[in-house]
Amino acid sequence: MNLDTINNKLASSKTFLVACFALFSALVVLVGLIFYAYQRDTIITGAKNNLSIMSDLKAHQISHWRQERISRAHLMTANLYLLNLIQQYNQQQNADLREKIIQAIEPGIGGDGDHSIFLINENNQLLLHIGAAHRCAERDYAAMIAQAQQAHEPLFGPIYSPSTNAEDSNEPSINRRHLHMDLVTPIYRNNDPEQQPLGAIISVIDPDKFLLPLMQLWPTKATSAESVLVRKMGDKITRLTPLRFISGGTMTAITPPSELETPGDYVTLGKVGLLAGYDYRSERIFAAITKIAKSNWFMISKIDRAEVLRPLAQLGALIAVTIVLIIGGVGMIMWLWWRRQQAISRALHYEQELQNRTIITRFDNLTKNSNDLIVLCNEDGVIIDANKQAIAAYGQPIEELRQKKLRAMCDMGDTECSLMWRQLEQHNETNFASMQFRQDGSTFPVEITASWIKVGERRLLQAIIRDVTERTEAAELLRHQAQHDPLTGLPNRTLITDRLQQAIFKGKRQHSQTALLFLDLDRFKNINDTLGHSAGDKVITTIAQRIHNSLRETDTVARFGGDEFMILVENINNIADIATLALKFIDVIRQPIDLGEQEVYITTSIGISIAPNDSDNTDQLIRFVETAMYRAKDMGRNNYQFYTSNMNAHTSERLALETSLRKALANNEFVVYYQPQIELSSGKIVGSEALVRWQHPQRGLVPPDDFIPIAEETGLITEIGMWILEQACRQNSQWQAAGFPELSIAVNLSARQFLDRNLQRDVWDILQRTNFPAKYLELEITESLSMFDVNSSIAIMDAFTAKGISIAIDDFGTGYSSLSHLHLFPINKLKIDRSFINQLSSDSNDLLVPTIIALAQQLKLKVIAEGVETEQQLNILRKLNCHLIQGYYFSKPLPAHDFTELLQNSIKLTCK
Ligand code: C2E
Ligand code: MG
Ligand code: MG
Repeated sequence: MNLDTINNKLASSKTFLVACFALFSALVVLVGLIFYAYQRDTIITGAKNNLSIMSDLKAHQISHWRQERISRAHLMTANLYLLNLIQQYNQQQNADLREKIIQAIEPGIGGDGDHSIFLINENNQLLLHIGAAHRCAERDYAAMIAQAQQAHEPLFGPIYSPSTNAEDSNEPSINRRHLHMDLVTPIYRNNDPEQQPLGAIISVIDPDKFLLPLMQLWPTKATSAESVLVRKMGDKITRLTPLRFISGGTMTAITPPSELETPGDYVTLGKVGLLAGYDYRSERIFAAITKIAKSNWFMISKIDRAEVLRPLAQLGALIAVTIVLIIGGVGMIMWLWWRRQQAISRALHYEQELQNRTIITRFDNLTKNSNDLIVLCNEDGVIIDANKQAIAAYGQPIEELRQKKLRAMCDMGDTECSLMWRQLEQHNETNFASMQFRQDGSTFPVEITASWIKVGERRLLQAIIRDVTERTEAAELLRHQAQHDPLTGLPNRTLITDRLQQAIFKGKRQHSQTALLFLDLDRFKNINDTLGHSAGDKVITTIAQRIHNSLRETDTVARFGGDEFMILVENINNIADIATLALKFIDVIRQPIDLGEQEVYITTSIGISIAPNDSDNTDQLIRFVETAMYRAKDMGRNNYQFYTSNMNAHTSERLALETSLRKALANNEFVVYYQPQIELSSGKIVGSEALVRWQHPQRGLVPPDDFIPIAEETGLITEIGMWILEQACRQNSQWQAAGFPELSIAVNLSARQFLDRNLQRDVWDILQRTNFPAKYLELEITESLSMFDVNSSIAIMDAFTAKGISIAIDDFGTGYSSLSHLHLFPINKLKIDRSFINQLSSDSNDLLVPTIIALAQQLKLKVIAEGVETEQQLNILRKLNCHLIQGYYFSKPLPAHDFTELLQNSIKLTCK
């Protein structure tokens, strides 16, 4: 990891931390606020409850106190005796009456220490007083009596401070030492409230005794708490007890702004309960309003909201401080932690850098001399280092490589890649082959051995990458070589067999036909034997080229064996096309082949089989096509044959023939026939041609065309040939010894014999063994045979002619030989092939026979026509001055015995 990456990571972790911190702070503040709000509600609820309890309690006590007072007042006013006394005293104020009244009233004053009792008449005049003196005129008792009468019960007046002199104002200030409260109990005649009051008993209550202490009593230390007793009369409210914060204001109505809700509003409506509102000072308060039972009195207990909430201010401050401390503390811890992380990361980086550098130095030392590409990666597969060979192979500088993963260099799918990783994790090492990308996008094949290595505390991936381009190419070359013929470059037997298999499958799917052609060059071995292998190679390559040029791109030609070619033609339309193609091959192959100093001619025999008609089995098809090719050979070569099912029988027959042929010589089954050769000028038999026959024990007489090719192919011809030569020479010796004219004997030499190194020696041996003069022996060689290698042919021929043996070119005109070479050969005779003689007729314009005869004459060679069957042919040949003739017209080939008879009869030709 480089420094930039670390810094980036740190920056993002910082942002994350800050965000976390902000979130944490917000949470703490929120919790603080919730806690504060909860506390506030608890305090307010507590305060309200206290207020409510306080108010209820006081109300209850006041009610009790009041009832007691009222009851006592009622007791007095219900005393008719007292009422009488008062009535009398009102009219006549004497001491006796006064004493009687006092005696009646005194028990009513009781022991609770009230100031005094007044008795006033209906004119508000003091009649008498018990206890302290009182200035009645100062107070409007008449109004109070009226109110009491209206209320049907004694009336408590507001608390007041009686003035000490007459100059005092109507609303004296409250003197705490002289506070009074009047209980005005009207006195009715006969205690009938419907009557006009006679006056009233005024009990001057000392509020300091009970009421004011009760009002001022507050169970907790509260600076703003106060209780006020008010009375509601109609829609008027009168304060009965003094206010705490306004002196002398007992009766003074201080009205807070009307929009603010006050306890007075509750009382006005006759409502009781808890209120959060404003008081007479326009201060925010919590108040409890309670109605005093059985009265129009209301108890208002209140306390300033500010006082109630005062502890909240402290709590708030405490919470705020706590929050600040928590946030500050956590912030500090986080900051310290982050600084530490920062330091650790950087330290780790530098440590890693150091380790990397050490690793790289070690790695460089270890890998610089390696032939392999060596790449070192971290645990994530990111390249850390690569040796020079890797840098060169990838074509990228190390800085660029270090930004890549090894995976990016491999041409691998995701599945292979994950498999590779799994193996690496399981076995600590893995081997795999892949293609590697170069900088330019090209690829090269490699084999990779990847393994985990421990470097210090770190686990690294080491990949040893072997460039296997050369090996792959070599393997490709080997594969190509294994499937191709080195001489022609054509596919070989293996490849075409493979392709044939595929073509058969394809044909099955597509319902199409595939043709297989098997070409075997006729007597190719002769070329190799006579002209040498390089000439043979040239012929093969030329023919390969010709076949290849005659084919479509989709067709395949393979060299199947020495002189064998296999051709695969897929998707054929009709069989006739294949026949045309086979003819085309026959034609292109028979064209002269230029070997530099000479031209050679070769023909081919072609076998054809069709898949799936003949078979859909590769091996079987190849067997069939070979059979068909042999059939074409048997049919005289230079032709094509389609495989037919009965060919198999022919093949097995041929096989049987070959087996019995090997035993034929030992079993003495060969017989030599002789066909006379007649000189046209004299009409005499001047010689004969030895023609072999096989007297097969089961098949009867087998003609040479049926077994000579097999003998040639199997090599048996050398032995058989020498046997024939010996028979022919011996027979002729016998005839000569028997006194027959000096006949010559022509013996056929096959190409294989002609090229046999021991031929000359064997011929001499036979001549000596049979005591037969060489000058009577004529060897017949075929035209094409002599042309394979002109120089060695000439040498062999020279050796024979030097001994006096004649050489005749057999089947002249069929071998496409170059006539220009003819004069070079030390030959004595040309033997015109019977196919030309066969065509001779009077109306024939064919110039071939006259040309051959003229040529022979020019070259001073004897010329013999073979296959003369008609007189017409004879006449033509005579006209053309042909020297010799041979054919059925005179005689078929005859066994020695018959030929002896022929000689004995000395049949003279009647050709003159
Ligand atoms: P070839 O050397 O050209 O022999 C001439 C062939 O023509 C003989 O056939 C002969 O019977 C046949 N023939 C002669 N006159 C007539 C005629 O008027 N009409 C017809 N239709 N045929 C005539 P054969 O004996 O069947 O031999 C065929 C070939 O077999 C020979 O052709 C020769 O190439 C080969 N052959 C025969 N005997 C030997 C042998 O001893 N050694 C070798 N190497 N080849 C032999
Ligand atoms: Mg012959
Ligand atoms: Mg012939």
